[in-house]
Amino acid sequence: MDFESVCIRLGWTAERKVQLELLTRDGGGLALVAARVAVEHRGAFGLLGCDVETARPAGRLRSAGGAWPAVGDWVAVTASPGGGEGIIHHVLPRTSLLERKRPGANQAQVVAANVDIVFAVTTAERPPNLRRVERTLAVIAAGGARPAIVLNKVDLARDATGDLRALASVSGGAPCLATSAATGTGIDDLRALLATGATGAMLGPSGAGKSSLVNALLGDARLETGVVRLTDAKGRHTTTRRELLELPGGGCLIDTPGMRELGLWDAGDGIERAFGDVAEVAAACRYRDCQHRGEPGCAVVAALDSGALDAARFASFDKLRREAAFHERQHDPRSAAASKGRWKAIHKQQRARSRVDPKLRDD
Ligand code: GDP
Ligand code: ZN
Repeated sequence: MDFESVCIRLGWTAERKVQLELLTRDGGGLALVAARVAVEHRGAFGLLGCDVETARPAGRLRSAGGAWPAVGDWVAVTASPGGGEGIIHHVLPRTSLLERKRPGANQAQVVAANVDIVFAVTTAERPPNLRRVERTLAVIAAGGARPAIVLNKVDLARDATGDLRALASVSGGAPCLATSAATGTGIDDLRALLATGATGAMLGPSGAGKSSLVNALLGDARLETGVVRLTDAKGRHTTTRRELLELPGGGCLIDTPGMRELGLWDAGDGIERAFGDVAEVAAACRYRDCQHRGEPGCAVVAALDSGALDAARFASFDKLRREAAFHERQHDPRSAAASKGRWKAIHKQQRARSRVDPKLRDD
């Protein structure tokens, strides 16, 4: 397959080409080819973009402690001489990583790699739940992907214009599209965001129409993209569904079961990024780690007082951040200790200040 077509179909880039060349040069004569992981099944990986259809990671990959392949990854593989399963030697550097940090589990689970754009899907049947959309945008930002807001089911809309305006107010500049998987409205706009070879994924509540949108984008290709045959470790053949789907007009979609389960605890510092407007105000707070709860010199409280910052928007930011911090404390004792220590330090500083300068007592 030629370079251009793999770019448009699967998102291969000049940068990744250079990475593969470097690996080949240092690889001791291995004939490495690039492929994209479309599914994992019992330790075997289904691949797209090269002649090797399935491959298994080289033992060295686990012992080296580097990245383990995930759906969406670009990997460097060698074909097996007999034409059977190939070997994955390297995972190329990732441009984004969506992870699940399951409650109670120590290690994050990779949901998808190299997703360029994530669609936060909502339904036009009811007024949009802006707080929920904000959460979703935070999860997307935490993974390093670009967000786009999709108002689906506009054929059933009560007030599509009003909904879009409300969604735009929490979008942080992300594009907002109106679609209907039922009538086809807006599907071309959605497709256009991926047609350059970008990889997309859908997030949003159950019933919003994510599967229907995936099917609308795939069109007739739906039937071809489905099943892939893999060989398990004992040489038995099994079939499974691909989770990375090529779109007929270029680009692809990742639709993994884990994608549906990304939770707030996966948001991490994505909350700060999704709330860029709040973060900008907060940058002027006296303390770098100000919690905006009455610390001296808090720019956020000042902006709320003057009306420069919307109270509902801040409340939403604050709630998300506290929930995320609570979750983190529950699962990371070090973070709990750090949080305690930080408050001690602030109170100590405050006491010291008020001793030095009585004027500072009530700022
Ligand atoms: P998911 O849970 O987000 O994957 O949602 P589905 O794609 O399964 O859709 C849920 C229901 O909404 C199904 O009955 C779909 O047929 C229906 N649906 C999805 N998109 C649209 C749309 O744009 N318009 C209408 N009228 N129904 C839709
Ligand atoms: Zn503050």
